[in-house]
Amino acid sequence: MTAGIEDLNRELCSAQQGYVHSIETGGTLDGPGIRFVLFLNGCPLRCQYCHNPDTWLLRHGKLTPTQDILKELESYASFLKRAKGGLTISGGEPLMQPRFAEAIFKGAKDMGLHTTLDTSGALHDRSPDSFFDQVDLVLLDLKGGDDETHRLVTRKPLQPTLDFAERLKRLDKPIWARFVLVPGLNNSETHLRKIAKIISGWENVKRVEILPFHQMASYKYDELGVTYPLEGKAEATARDVTLAWHIFSEEGVYNTRNAPKLVREHQQAS
Ligand code: SF4
Repeated sequence: MTAGIEDLNRELCSAQQGYVHSIETGGTLDGPGIRFVLFLNGCPLRCQYCHNPDTWLLRHGKLTPTQDILKELESYASFLKRAKGGLTISGGEPLMQPRFAEAIFKGAKDMGLHTTLDTSGALHDRSPDSFFDQVDLVLLDLKGGDDETHRLVTRKPLQPTLDFAERLKRLDKPIWARFVLVPGLNNSETHLRKIAKIISGWENVKRVEILPFHQMASYKYDELGVTYPLEGKAEATARDVTLAWHIFSEEGVYNTRNAPKLVREHQQAS
């Protein structure tokens, strides 16, 4: 694969079309209610624990007209509204195809749907503030509590994610913060405290999720002929997650699934 081919593929992305990996029509994990989840291709990161390596390259997706996506979304719109759900654009990294994602978000808003962007924020500076006018909620994936760990996990720096969180504060956009817990990679007490400290500083966080690493994506790496850095590594157990929550709570970050205001209330009280 040469950079030239990816550049050419990027040129083909527009408000009219983009590279799509897949669609999930009954998602319950990526935003409130039941979601129509659109997975886009293209990602600048290479997370060691990535479950979707088949989304990394634009060219591995299917070039799809925006209108086709919106037509399918419209057929679910009334159901999604009744289910208090909406549209989530995930990936890959949706901000790799900002004009395509924006056009789909805009179409969803025209249908009266709630919209969610699932992102690492790594490419946020490619999109103007007006992009986020179409976004009701951001699922912000924090992949490292310091630059060294972030580069170890993703091969890219942490700062763009921190800058994006500041930007979301300025834009007054709610955040669900997410962190994938990988034993032996990012679960030391010191590192978990760093992650929690960053999240506790994000005033607009409405929910925090610790997602346990699992091995379900191993076969995708085999199919792509790509080395899987976490091959054979231990999955995160329920106990690992509980211990992580304990450390988070000591830093003022609580399991907000059932108490969405706790992070903010703690900050105000301290
Ligand atoms: S940002 Fe998401 S899609 Fe990209 S490498 Fe990381 S986990 Fe995979």
